[in-house]
Amino acid sequence: MDVKDEVDGPLSRSGDVATPKDRRVGLIYDERMCQHYAPDYEDHPECPDRVRVIWDRLNSSGLAKRCVILNAKDADDNHLALVHTKNHIDLIKNISSERSEPRRKRTAAKFNSIYFNEGSSEAAYLAAGSVVEVAEKVAEGKLDSGFAIVRPPGHHAEEAEPMGFCLYNNVAIAASFLLNERRDLGINKILIVDWDVHHGNGTQKMFYNDPRVLFFSVHRHDFGTFYPAGDDGSYIMTGEGPGAGYNINVPWENSRCGDADYLAVWDHILIPVAQQFNPDMIIISAGFDAAIGVSWGCRVSRMGTHLLDKLMEFAGGKIVMALEGGYNLKSLANSAQACVEVLLQDKPVIGTLEAYPFESTWRVIQEVRQQLSAYWPILAVKLSDKVIDRRITQIEFSSSDSDDEHPHSPSIALDGFKTVDNTEGMRKPCVGSMDKTKPKEIIWKTFPHRLFFARERTSTWGPGGVAFLHPKSNDQEKTYMCLYKITLEQFNDVLLQENVSSYIT
Ligand SMILES: [Zn+2]
Repeated sequence: MDVKDEVDGPLSRSGDVATPKDRRVGLIYDERMCQHYAPDYEDHPECPDRVRVIWDRLNSSGLAKRCVILNAKDADDNHLALVHTKNHIDLIKNISSERSEPRRKRTAAKFNSIYFNEGSSEAAYLAAGSVVEVAEKVAEGKLDSGFAIVRPPGHHAEEAEPMGFCLYNNVAIAASFLLNERRDLGINKILIVDWDVHHGNGTQKMFYNDPRVLFFSVHRHDFGTFYPAGDDGSYIMTGEGPGAGYNINVPWENSRCGDADYLAVWDHILIPVAQQFNPDMIIISAGFDAAIGVSWGCRVSRMGTHLLDKLMEFAGGKIVMALEGGYNLKSLANSAQACVEVLLQDKPVIGTLEAYPFESTWRVIQEVRQQLSAYWPILAVKLSDKVIDRRITQIEFSSSDSDDEHPHSPSIALDGFKTVDNTEGMRKPCVGSMDKTKPKEIIWKTFPHRLFFARERTSTWGPGGVAFLHPKSNDQEKTYMCLYKITLEQFNDVLLQENVSSYIT
């Protein structure tokens, strides 16, 4: 690895294979961030391999050679203090020097979804400092864009507490640093795009009153039941005081959303607002857990590429990506590679995809637009029925399209569910389901009840669906039924398709 130290002029690439069309893309990775892991080596989704697989892929694909490799840096306490309380900073700073592991565990248990070990303090400082480093280099014009491959992630971390695997809010610290500490660089307006499948609650709160930051988050909300549960991720949270209108939440109602849904949100909410906001820089809370293949995510293929491509036209392409979530290692590597290809403007748009947003997506988009129309007049324009009724959207995507793991159309995606083909009935999870596991148990049983209603088969599950029996036992009438022991996720999908008449067929 050819590491560049501080330099005065524009940074040069680490390899000699850069072509004139390449943009200067910075990368930061540091193995020390892998020293933060769940104590006792317990299986935990936020594991060191998340960043290792990304780094390995960027090297094996040859992309890293075409980028500028930066040294990771420790965050400065003064910069952390721009968004965090002193108590919070002291907690994270000292947690790894705590001699007793049980005490560390007890401290972690006070928080929501947090673990600490002896490497946590250093990793947290490096993650925050590295995002600041990339952001500063991009703001200075020494890089065109950059990707901080960091962990622990940051967007759930709040002013006074770690949360949701996040210790310091890396993206918020970097944005605050540029806006408050490096005003000389002329970055006065920052668009933060949080496409992690979870709401960026911490980042939202840190800039809720600040019109210099337009915070945009698209996430599963599931009517307030998806992590982090509650109303913070609702579309009614639009900012307050001088920051009113500068907080945009697009809350998905379930896990079905894929490329067409995300692109519709980009086209009808984010891009029009970004055009008016005209940011000086874009920082992406780049979680890859909305990618297809992540058990609790959505269904975005080659996560982020088409979304990133559309953002490249803003802020002169000054884009800083900071890793947030993403827990499927193969999907992480694929998505990160595809995004770096876009940052390098590696490949032209080479294809189209036939897909269409769900009806619920149009409903959410219209609700968000209405909520924000007082602040962004362009959103007050009513979407034509022609747009909303459109069933097939031509979607352009960039980068490679040959990845079998990430198919580009729902019909192809179903092929990935072959694992349950051998079970009786319910041969495949419905289209939106990310849970490909076989039913844990299948039994046929006779019930002494009258059958009220049942589906013999449904279009998305094949044989099977819901059944309702009369609650009163009746030996004269018996119902012979197949029972499936399925996960809550799969159960929700069954309910969903039963309740949404326009569900994909
Ligand atoms: Zn996430």
